[in-house]
Amino acid sequence: MAEGYVWLVTGSNRGIGLEMVKQLLSSPSNIVIAACRNPSKAAELHALSESAEGRLHLVALDVASKESIREAAQAVAGIVGEKGVDYLVNNAGINPGGEDTAFTLDVDVLEQVFATNVVGPAYAAQAFSGLVEKSVKKTIVNVSSTLGSMGADYGTRCTSYSVTKAALNMLTYKEAKEKPDVTAISMCPGWLQTDMGGQNAALPVSVGVAGILKTVLSLKPEDSGQFFNFKGERVPW
Ligand code: NDP
Repeated sequence: MAEGYVWLVTGSNRGIGLEMVKQLLSSPSNIVIAACRNPSKAAELHALSESAEGRLHLVALDVASKESIREAAQAVAGIVGEKGVDYLVNNAGINPGGEDTAFTLDVDVLEQVFATNVVGPAYAAQAFSGLVEKSVKKTIVNVSSTLGSMGADYGTRCTSYSVTKAALNMLTYKEAKEKPDVTAISMCPGWLQTDMGGQNAALPVSVGVAGILKTVLSLKPEDSGQFFNFKGERVPW
């Protein structure tokens, strides 16, 4: 395997994950594991791999399935060997959107969102921890949202999504506390123009992702357990 840091990005077939893969490949020192539910249908990832000179590897990973996460961890171990995974980016997420409030939300939907946005990243951190800990950077990035911040005070909307991102933030805190050798952070990417963010979002996805990568690359060990935005600023819990 080539020299350089290994990045694993979940939900990499579109939106923020796809843009992250693109920007990571533009630096020749990066090796990228692009994880997504259906690699065979990920046309843009296949197109990128043609010019990636062996630095892009596609792996099937459905974060809502423990079996899929276990199989992906085995596949990635076979690809990266002793290098491990320097950056595990838990990016895949869903947002049922809009008007669900604490007293109107559909609890079945809440369960589904929780499985993807919280259980998935939690189990991925466990399944990949051996690979993360044998790497140089030992970093977990949980892609969160300021909608999960009580301090940001966004009111009553998007409750299911907000609850799951608040839970994800606590997971980050617990991961950082338990493993001082690992750097675990929550990251709000900003309101970005993707399928989830919508085309009226504040920023092009390229701007948010550039900010995320700049922030992640400048992390210090003492930043572990904190919540950042794509500008590198601390976000209130
Ligand atoms: P998109 O809806 O554009 O893309 C979501 C990605 O997650 C897709 O690749 C999708 O894959 C994947 N995904 C969903 N469920 C699963 C699953 N069970 N297993 C594997 N992959 C899955 O969203 P964004 O790119 O905008 O969002 C990415 C992350 O950023 C999310 O965690 C989101 O909460 C967060 N975020 C986004 C903001 C924004 O403004 N865009 C703002 C704040 C946070 P598939 O194509 O198979 O469905």
